Amino acid sequence: MEQRMFGKPLINPVDLQRRIRKLGHQISQDYVGKDLVLVGLLKGAFAFYADLARAISIPLAVDFLVVTSGGSSTEGKKRVKMISDLTVDIAGRDVLLVEDIVDSGLTVKSLMNRLQARKPASLKICAMLDKPSRRKVDVKLDYVGFMIPNKYVIGFGLDYKNNYRNLPYLAVLDQLQNE
Ligand code: 5GP
Repeated sequence: MEQRMFGKPLINPVDLQRRIRKLGHQISQDYVGKDLVLVGLLKGAFAFYADLARAISIPLAVDFLVVTSGGSSTEGKKRVKMISDLTVDIAGRDVLLVEDIVDSGLTVKSLMNRLQARKPASLKICAMLDKPSRRKVDVKLDYVGFMIPNKYVIGFGLDYKNNYRNLPYLAVLDQLQNE
């Protein structure tokens, strides 16, 4: 059965996979000989994370953080609450935090501070999407899939009211609201 299109298409599955393969290749080169722990931020990063992990060709450990920033609305929020913590000790290890989208930067900033306190050998960020126009705090993104304009995006892990995370592409919500 054909899948119904939701929203206005932003990035198609082919372009997504092409970019993820490139990121995986770059990360594989940058982390040769390191003790890489790939930390995924759930729920939003699950799809990107799964493809990125498989695009990385060097040994790595997988782990996850479940966080909530106070609801899944398009409104500004911001109290980053950790629902579920890592299962491994990251002290002395090379941690790469995998995020779905960096918007204000507050989520990533807060998590980086908390993870840094556990004394990893290195701590970097890989974000599928960067929405720089709405940044409120300065964060350095080491790897970025795509820079996007200030639009609310769904699909490929990203939700609207906990729906649409399973769409195999990224779309802008606008159109959906007019349906
Ligand atoms: P920040 O703390 O950088 O403002 O927000 C990061 C979080 O806000 C993301 O992990 C995501 O959950 C949510 N978010 C920000 N922009 C969007 C968007 O365009 N679409 C969706 N679905 N979530 C977003």
